[in-house]
Amino acid sequence: MNSITDMPASARSATRPLAGRIALVTGSTSGIGLGIARALAGAGADIALNGFGDAEEIADLQAEIRAAHGVRVAYYNADLAKQDDIGRMLEQLALDFGRVDILVNNAGIQHVAPIANFPVEKWNAILAINLSSAFHLTRALFGAMQARGYGRVVNIASAHGLIASPFKSAYVTAKHGIVGLTKVIALEGAEHGVTANAICPGYVWTPLVEKQIDNQAEAHGISREAVIRDVLLAQTPSKRFATSEEIGALTVLLCTKAGQSITGTAIPIDGGWTAH
Ligand code: NAD
Repeated sequence: MNSITDMPASARSATRPLAGRIALVTGSTSGIGLGIARALAGAGADIALNGFGDAEEIADLQAEIRAAHGVRVAYYNADLAKQDDIGRMLEQLALDFGRVDILVNNAGIQHVAPIANFPVEKWNAILAINLSSAFHLTRALFGAMQARGYGRVVNIASAHGLIASPFKSAYVTAKHGIVGLTKVIALEGAEHGVTANAICPGYVWTPLVEKQIDNQAEAHGISREAVIRDVLLAQTPSKRFATSEEIGALTVLLCTKAGQSITGTAIPIDGGWTAH
């Protein structure tokens, strides 16, 4: 036993309940994924970052998380739309960390268009990134989690995994799909210490939402303020965006001992949107 990786459960403190755990968070160079990575690191987990972005900014992020929490932080630039890239990332991860205890399938993209002229390449990309990558990663990592008797799969779905909105055919399909996949993983993992849950955020203030504000403002010919109030948060009773920190905090809870009986769920963090 010669590294933090091998730390026994007894060494985990209440303040660092995930010390010694290794977490892969897809799409963690930005937005919700980055919030989750920071929260897991704060709870003591070593972090494997993934996603796109400026190399220097990502190196700074790694250094910042490492310095703040004293955990190991690696980065993998795999394009999750490509199965070969996923395979290469997993090979490198095995060399770097030896295993993955916590898999957070977060990477996602969006495209908004009426179904009659929804671009086929956008449909394929959204299904590949938002849904199939979660299957490929879980498929590759599940057996070892099961054998070790601990594993956490946290899928970042969406309120759109529970309800639909017009013009988001691919996104709503992928998110409903990942809620279904979550239930299957939960059932297969239940007797082996492996849990799977889907977190279903409403609107969270991130670059993905920023982009939608501009797109919708153009599509409807209205101001950004009007898009926020009358379009994005129109169905949100709390009239506020959730934060990446809130999604991170729930992810940590699901990964700790306190979360061991929470499995197969789709948990809304949506200010009451899906309570309508
Ligand atoms: P974001 O655009 O800020 O971040 C997306 C991340 O995914 C980035 O790190 C990006 O580099 C990465 N990514 C994109 N394509 C990739 C690919 N092909 N391979 C690897 N990485 C890729 O978005 P966000 O708002 O933080 O969204 C994160 C997740 O949360 C998504 O699954 C999204 O659907 C979901 N979500 C977001 C909101 C919201 O309001 N922001 C609400 C509900 C659900």
